[in-house]
Amino acid sequence: MVSWLSSGDARAFKCLLALALMYGAMSYLAYTVIHTRHVRPLGSDAPPDRFSEARAIEHIRHLTVDIDGRQEGRPGLEEAARYIRGQLEAFADRAGPNYRVEIEETLVSGSFNMIFLRHSISVAYRSHKNVLMRISSNFSNDLDSSVLVNGHFDSPLGSPGAGDCGSCVASMLELARLIIDSNWIPPRPIIFLFNGAEELFLLGSHGFVKTHRWSNTIGAFINIEASGTGGLDLVCQSGPGSWPSHVYAQSAQYPMANSVAQDVFGIIPGDTDYRIFAEDYGDIPGLDIIFVLGGYFYHTSYDTLERLLPGSIQARGENLFRLIEAFASSSMVLNANERTLEVAANGAKTDRAVFFDYLSWFMIFYSRKVSVVLHGLPFVIFLLMPLFLRPSNFAMHSWFATFSDYFKGMLFHAIGVVLAIIIPVVFAVLRLLFSSHAMSWFAHPFLAFLMFVPSSLVGLLLPMTIWGFFPLSQDTSRLQVSKDALSDEARFWGAFGLYAVTTVVYLLAGLGGGFLTYLISISMLLAWFSFYLVSKHCGHLSLRSLAGYVVPLIPCLTYVAYYGGFLDQFLVEKMGMMGSLPQPYGYFAPDVIVATVIGLVTGWCVGPLVPVVGRWLARSSILKFLMQVTVIALALSSQFFPYSIDAPKRVVLQHTFITADANKIVDSSYEFSVVDANSLAFLFKHVPEAAKMLHISSEMSFEEGYHSDSSSWVALFPVSFLFSGSLKFPAQADDVSKHYRHMPHLSVREPVSVSTGLRRVHLELYLGSLEEIWVTVLNITGPLSNWSFADNRLPAPETISGGPPSYICRLSGRSHENWTFWLEANSSETLRVDVAVLDQYLLYNTQKLKNLFPSWADVTAFTTFLSSYSF
Ligand SMILES: [Zn+2]
Repeated sequence: MVSWLSSGDARAFKCLLALALMYGAMSYLAYTVIHTRHVRPLGSDAPPDRFSEARAIEHIRHLTVDIDGRQEGRPGLEEAARYIRGQLEAFADRAGPNYRVEIEETLVSGSFNMIFLRHSISVAYRSHKNVLMRISSNFSNDLDSSVLVNGHFDSPLGSPGAGDCGSCVASMLELARLIIDSNWIPPRPIIFLFNGAEELFLLGSHGFVKTHRWSNTIGAFINIEASGTGGLDLVCQSGPGSWPSHVYAQSAQYPMANSVAQDVFGIIPGDTDYRIFAEDYGDIPGLDIIFVLGGYFYHTSYDTLERLLPGSIQARGENLFRLIEAFASSSMVLNANERTLEVAANGAKTDRAVFFDYLSWFMIFYSRKVSVVLHGLPFVIFLLMPLFLRPSNFAMHSWFATFSDYFKGMLFHAIGVVLAIIIPVVFAVLRLLFSSHAMSWFAHPFLAFLMFVPSSLVGLLLPMTIWGFFPLSQDTSRLQVSKDALSDEARFWGAFGLYAVTTVVYLLAGLGGGFLTYLISISMLLAWFSFYLVSKHCGHLSLRSLAGYVVPLIPCLTYVAYYGGFLDQFLVEKMGMMGSLPQPYGYFAPDVIVATVIGLVTGWCVGPLVPVVGRWLARSSILKFLMQVTVIALALSSQFFPYSIDAPKRVVLQHTFITADANKIVDSSYEFSVVDANSLAFLFKHVPEAAKMLHISSEMSFEEGYHSDSSSWVALFPVSFLFSGSLKFPAQADDVSKHYRHMPHLSVREPVSVSTGLRRVHLELYLGSLEEIWVTVLNITGPLSNWSFADNRLPAPETISGGPPSYICRLSGRSHENWTFWLEANSSETLRVDVAVLDQYLLYNTQKLKNLFPSWADVTAFTTFLSSYSF
């Protein structure tokens, strides 16, 4: 070995290198699974009775390349509906005589109140198109309980929507074809709902559930969604009850599901149609299955065909086909009437099972009852361990001495796990203090691992360096056990106890996440037994004994690397749309969050080794080395630009017109917003061409003078609450009259009717010559006591930029006709209505401004017409 190292140091570095290789191999395996590299996509020449990714991709190509924009208000949406219908009709024509195939197009309308992104809104919609297909056997009954598969074909603003949700629609088309071409006659009807309005807050599914005659027959549903462009499709929500996830566990080919996702889904901003079917407007049991990787491109112009991760759609398709087969033959699938009878007889199912997939190879699933026994077991073993270890020497005082040593081990381990988080966080904050921008790891996630993993290891090992200063309570001479062996024992059982206690805490809290620490503690028992056997022959400090401890832990650690690696990657990508936190905290938030989670995951991955490996690695030479790597990584990271074409920065550009009297422009301005930690000052510094066009002179001084009020972003309410900063610049209005002859206008339709202190104003909203309307938002303030929307119910009031309480209603669909509605006031005070109409068309200059931004910035641009009225 190299002579300048002491023999202890040399052994330590050998050990570190061996572990680095082991974790490298495990991470590589986890990476391939997370990115579906282990799934072979089938070509378009695959046998007709197989699901083929290539055939699905052809549908996506048509939906995203041949059709220009499937957004509400744009012609592409109708073209997409026609394409879907055409495909379904071709499948139906091929169906043999044993099938009954029904295809329908429906236009849905409705109005309801909801909480979205924790804000209260009302929506009113008309004529959104859904396309449906019901496949059943030719002797099926109209009321037979059925299985629903839902996916939406509309796209978000400014995005081609290849992942979200072209991938869903394409998978559904290929599945519908597969059912027919494979001659599988489903024992229950399968309904495919190609939903035409999800991005406007779940309208298509609401319309279907509330109005369609098939909705009461649905006994199970699968909602497929995308919050990215691929990866394994994670089951994010399931219920009510745990049987839908049980069916999934038994049938999925490439399962990706765990009970933790359910615990945390509510924390992440965003909602899916799942809530409409399973929570808000039905108690239908079902699954919410979402593509969660490739979050960089979610709702951006980069959500294109090329960005889809190969293998993802193949895995999704194979999972879904088996799942549809399993649901179709499950006796648990009951229609609405049968469900009501079942609940009356046996009560509602609210059981929560524990489940998780192992690298998408198989799933482990057990009931809550089983988890009480299993997850309690490590804690019982921990309490009884002194009895097992020294049965001949058992007395109260020795039990107490043993436990006080275990407690010391537990405390040291706990401090290590906490330091493993704190030290990377400290480094993250220090780096930001000396850096001009946050999130330098955004486009290069390896930088985050390079900065935060070694520093986290320092935290994990640090307590072990002072272990020797605190003597053990047990008497080595009396026990005839070496001091080293006793130390190992105390550290091991202390760490084991920590994981056992954590598992019990999870269990008592009723959460589904305790399986991770349970898995760790059970694997540690196995490892300890193997370590004990090997070290009897080879001594405590031999490399073989070390291997004897580490090797049995490999399956568990590989799982933790997979689970934690997925979490890290997901989080890094989502930081691009983390949203608002007031500055200066907002600047630090993403780096602190990523450092925390990487520290936590490092603690999970390496923590179980520390009781034994710590003796080898907790040396100043190793800690110094790890610190050096951290410092180099910190210096290196500041050389990288946070964004790239593969990890774009999200920018929102709104051309705002304030109008009056249906054709008068009062004001015209460009407004910008960003949704992550790097401010607009950062943006304009790196895009001087845009700064020049906006006449921004000096770098930093413009912020105060150009404040953009959140009330002018009301067209995006409540998504506008995610903005981390907005600015406003004057714009010309020269070319406006060429494109828009008439502006939106609200007028009184009927005279105000008065009855016992109430005033009812009948209004008519004319949308002018706007042609690509996404949404119209009404913001009503004043003594509003009732209205014609949402079955005459007001939502909870909201406050926008410190103004008075106001009621928000979003209108969408069929914009060539006027909207008519009434508002009721319970006093003579003025009722104020602010109208914001979002048009997707861009005037020449706005398009020019948008084009000035480089490819690392994704600019979602639109035009908004604001007008105000008093009644
Ligand atoms: Zn979607």
